[in-house]
Amino acid sequence: MRTIGLIGGMSWESTAEYYRLLNELTRDRLGGLHSARCVVYSVDFAEIEQLQVQGRWAEAGEILADAARALAAAGADLLLIGTNTMHKVADQVAAAVPIPLLHLADATADAVRAAGVTRVGLLGTAFTMEQDFYRGRLAGHGLDVLVPEPEDRALVHRVIYDELCLGVVDDRSRKEYRRIIENLVAAGAEGVILGCTEIELLVGPKDSPVPVFPTTRLHAEAAVRAAQQ
Ligand code: GLU
Repeated sequence: MRTIGLIGGMSWESTAEYYRLLNELTRDRLGGLHSARCVVYSVDFAEIEQLQVQGRWAEAGEILADAARALAAAGADLLLIGTNTMHKVADQVAAAVPIPLLHLADATADAVRAAGVTRVGLLGTAFTMEQDFYRGRLAGHGLDVLVPEPEDRALVHRVIYDELCLGVVDDRSRKEYRRIIENLVAAGAEGVILGCTEIELLVGPKDSPVPVFPTTRLHAEAAVRAAQQ
């Protein structure tokens, strides 16, 4: 079994989920007392979030590149960045280490396509929903990506940073997310990507009339498969 290196802490609420999923999925695959060989480097999210807001992406990328180097030095054979948003600096992070980066958008796009979906809604931070680093990567896999209207994008973004990253799971926000998912479906989405690693803490399959694609789970699944090849 190869060792998975996870850059986490963005936020730690989803990193805890990654850790649980990596171990559960390894146990399910291998049985018995098997668990995931992994190393986690958890950053201080306040520092990263400030750099995001200020548009200082290269500096944030350097922090993650340092984390990647530490993970490689600790014996990681493959690398995960445990957040959709910070894939904005995925190339910078990947270039810092000799081990492969398992890109979250690629793992997600593979699952969406395997489900036979091509028109897909995307929920995530404003960076993820609005910028090309993520949408463009999905489009490169042949997906047609729909995002909510501007006001709803702001709501989705606010719930991520003001609630989910702080461990707050609120029924009122779940209701709003359901409404936004329904609007995406009305606009033609055949599935919805939960494109922020905390969103699956709030909504799941029963909150959507179409399949949802939870990125933390899909990323963890792809990592466990890759670790055992
Ligand atoms: N975990 C979130 C994501 O998947 C947002 C936190 C961040 O900005 O990294 O995008």
